[in-house]
Amino acid sequence: MAAYDFDIGVIGGGAGGLTVASGATQLGAKTLLVEKEKELGGDCLHFGCVPSKTLLKSAHVYHLMKNCRKFGLPTVVVPPVDFSAISQRIRSVIATIQHHDSKERFYKLGVRVEFGQPRFTDDHSIQLKGNTYSAKTWVIATGSSPAVPPIKGLAQIPFITNKEIFNLDHLPESMVILGGGPIGVEMSQAFCRLGTRVAVVNRSSQILAKEDPDMADSVKEVLSSEGVTFYLNSSIEEVKDLGREKEVRIKTGQGGSISLKAETILVALGRKANTDGLGLEDIGVKFDHRGINVDNRLRTSLKHIYAAGDINGGFQFTHAAGYEGGIVVSNAIFHLPRKVDYTFLPWCTYTDPPLGSIGMNEKLARAAGIDYKVWMEEFKDNDRSLAEGETVGKIKMILDDKEKPIGVQILGPHAEDLLNEWVAILNGKVKLSTLAAAIHPYPTIGEINKKVAGSYFSPKIFSEKVQKGLKFFFHLKGRACAEDSCD
Ligand SMILES: Cc1cc2nc3c(=O)[nH]c(=O)nc-3n(C[C@H](O)[C@H](O)[C@H](O)COP(=O)(O)OP(=O)(O)OC[C@H]3O[C@@H](n4cnc5c(N)ncnc54)[C@H](O)[C@@H]3O)c2cc1C
Repeated sequence: MAAYDFDIGVIGGGAGGLTVASGATQLGAKTLLVEKEKELGGDCLHFGCVPSKTLLKSAHVYHLMKNCRKFGLPTVVVPPVDFSAISQRIRSVIATIQHHDSKERFYKLGVRVEFGQPRFTDDHSIQLKGNTYSAKTWVIATGSSPAVPPIKGLAQIPFITNKEIFNLDHLPESMVILGGGPIGVEMSQAFCRLGTRVAVVNRSSQILAKEDPDMADSVKEVLSSEGVTFYLNSSIEEVKDLGREKEVRIKTGQGGSISLKAETILVALGRKANTDGLGLEDIGVKFDHRGINVDNRLRTSLKHIYAAGDINGGFQFTHAAGYEGGIVVSNAIFHLPRKVDYTFLPWCTYTDPPLGSIGMNEKLARAAGIDYKVWMEEFKDNDRSLAEGETVGKIKMILDDKEKPIGVQILGPHAEDLLNEWVAILNGKVKLSTLAAAIHPYPTIGEINKKVAGSYFSPKIFSEKVQKGLKFFFHLKGRACAEDSCD
């Protein structure tokens, strides 16, 4: 048997790679972790989830300050935002979390951590800064980067992506955001609330393309009401640098051309897998524009090389990368043939209100040919939502033809946390009747979960047939009042 330096080598120190490295070493595998940047943590920590959610919180608080009259409080005149102070707060949150993802923590776990950009020299070995490291099994978890499509003029002008946006030295006066996906939409609300004039250009007629139109349109309505301008069905023709401002010329749905001018352009047009420089083509690992091709055990075209996280072009979320890291550990270390199952993978867009989703939405159910039914409850009917002043949105529960829940969408306050109860229900195959009968504390926004489940049972329990049966057996006397009077 060939002698390798390591049992497992992991390339990429983000959510996926760190999960594999910590799991493998704690199971006794001699583990190497290679990271290109100076710090571990990946996009989520440095340029993604953490800075974006920290920024959104600052924007939320500023929005509340400006709207405190809504809560019966005196009006306050709020000074303009100093973005460098917000950047500072973002850096400090990142620094705190960085301790958890530090190289020292991984050394302590037993992982050899190396920094630099490796290249495969054969299918078991990499070259890194003049040294060769071999491993029996490899995991590629190099993540993704902002895609920059070949738009006329874009390469010649300064623009920003998620790599720069959290470190701006001042708040832009105006911003055109190219792309109406989750990143573009979250940033549009954050910057608009902080005082930037924001326009979003989106190719299709719906922002947040994966979501059901009614839910995505409600998010758009909220953002429009706060001041974000949307150009839907619009393609970008050209961008130009005009000096102090940049110009984005778009072709609108109506066929005309419009010129949008702004201080800053944010490119949020999707993601590109980080495959460059790894030498994958030389060793025969197959990949395409979406990422590295994997089977349902996350093995690449070479079975001892796995690909986890954004790099495989699947669901591009931190929790998906973490889940996939676990699947890789099962397969590569335990040698258990565990397959990925994304049936109940939840996700959330962290606008205010947030939009969360688990399982099938109407779009997916229709595409799968499922005869589904939708049950809905609105947040304006939830007592706690009223108390909180957060009444926009609804919950949609999708049932299949056997009346089994197959998905839930929530647009409303704390949607991301409300979703967690559904994570347990759907994964645990808990009966809807159990949720409907369970006691939830009052007044909580979470009561909406119980209520939507109850709304399915109410027409059955309070039916005329049941009333007649009870009247017959127990001699109930029926209504005390007529519908229109009680004399
Ligand atoms: C603005 C924004 C907001 C987001 N918000 C959320 C959110 O709220 N929730 C959520 O779940 N997801 C969110 N995401 C997505 C999330 O960040 C990614 O899905 C997640 O980081 C993927 O983890 P990963 O391990 O695949 O890649 P990463 O975390 O990016 O890690 C890859 C690592 O590999 C390293 N690397 C790259 N190339 C090489 C190389 N050649 N050699 C060595 N190392 C290399 C990189 O430096 C990086 O450290 C957001 C993304 C963005 C951009």
